[in-house]
Amino acid sequence: MDNINIQQTFSTVLGQKPEIIVRAPGRINLIGEHTDYNAGYVLPGAIDKAIWFAASKRTDQALHFYAADLEESFTSENGEVIFQREKTWANYLLGVISEARKDGIQPGGINVVFGSDIPLGAGLSSSAALESGVLFLLNELYQLGLSRMDIVKLAQRGENEFVGMKCGIMDMFASVMGRENHVVRLDCRNLQYDYFPFDAPDVSLVLCDSGVKHALVDSEYNTRRTECEEGLRILQSLDDSIQSLRDVTPEFLSRHAARLSPIVLQRCTYVVEEIRRVEQACEALMHNDMTSLGKLMYETHEGLQHNYQVSCPEMDFLVEEARKNPAVLGARMMGGGFGGCTINLVKKEAVPGFIAQMQAAYLEKYQLNLKTYPVQLTNGTEVLNGRR
Ligand code: ADP
Ligand code: MG
Repeated sequence: MDNINIQQTFSTVLGQKPEIIVRAPGRINLIGEHTDYNAGYVLPGAIDKAIWFAASKRTDQALHFYAADLEESFTSENGEVIFQREKTWANYLLGVISEARKDGIQPGGINVVFGSDIPLGAGLSSSAALESGVLFLLNELYQLGLSRMDIVKLAQRGENEFVGMKCGIMDMFASVMGRENHVVRLDCRNLQYDYFPFDAPDVSLVLCDSGVKHALVDSEYNTRRTECEEGLRILQSLDDSIQSLRDVTPEFLSRHAARLSPIVLQRCTYVVEEIRRVEQACEALMHNDMTSLGKLMYETHEGLQHNYQVSCPEMDFLVEEARKNPAVLGARMMGGGFGGCTINLVKKEAVPGFIAQMQAAYLEKYQLNLKTYPVQLTNGTEVLNGRR
């Protein structure tokens, strides 16, 4: 899918030209995993895989959506927004409209055609791109006056409240706020953010898609959150200035280690270390020090594997295999865990060899064809036909 294709699809489906073309990218997270709900930092970026939208206003209140990849349409003739059990993809668009209305924001009717080249099930946040992309185009077409941060927050509410997924804000934030050749450090405590250059012509980011999604994801995610909360409660009882694990230093944690159960100590250790690692990674990026960045990524993986225990054999295998290659500076599992992609920092000239190595190894070990995606960091959600 691209700019031209989506325009053509729109014209074919609706027999008219679109008023606006919007690109809403997927995202990676360089480092900072499971830190968002501990008021820590994350370091995501938007990527050159995106959902493309073509849209036009309507004179009535109707909502007409067409998912080009699925060749499915959804229509609400009177603009009513009701949760869909069959065409569940429509909920991502309906959800943000529903949340906007709660705030008294009333865009009129709309025709939206969209298609994507974000791989499915790889953990690159196609849902966030869908939500923020549709809000973005409504904002443009109907001059709703929403800021980019308003769009981020409304998109998250759509996913939390309407779709029913209790995700953090990072995915929407990265999709909307990305900047070419930069990652953005989001402080999840106060939503302040800073851009850091990812500016190394000789290194590339390559994703390796394990192709697995173990059923543990949701239950273990909730368990980790509870374990972090338990650790926090105990540490707070020792120092009431602590509001989240963000406020806990490694020294404080090790001094009071005996107060925590071994498991809770492991979880807290990972989180406290990971928050520090994001800061160190930003420092490394400011000096264009990709070697240090890569080491931090390997450390994150070890923490996720052994202390936080959200990895899985397939992703551990991919990281170990990557480690054998001297042209790989760093590798780690990305996302919540138990499947999805690893993210690899690879010397550019070695990328084809790296991909061949990883595919051969994965095939031999798991009889699975490994999908790999080299990615570039791009701008966030944007209009492509001359508006803003
Ligand atoms: P992700 O990590 O990609 O965000 P999610 O499970 O959160 O995974 O969201 C994926 C869902 O988003 C899909 O099941 C589908 O409902 C919707 N979606 C994403 N991309 C598309 C698309 N190109 N066409 C239709 N629906 C899509
Ligand atoms: Mg999602």
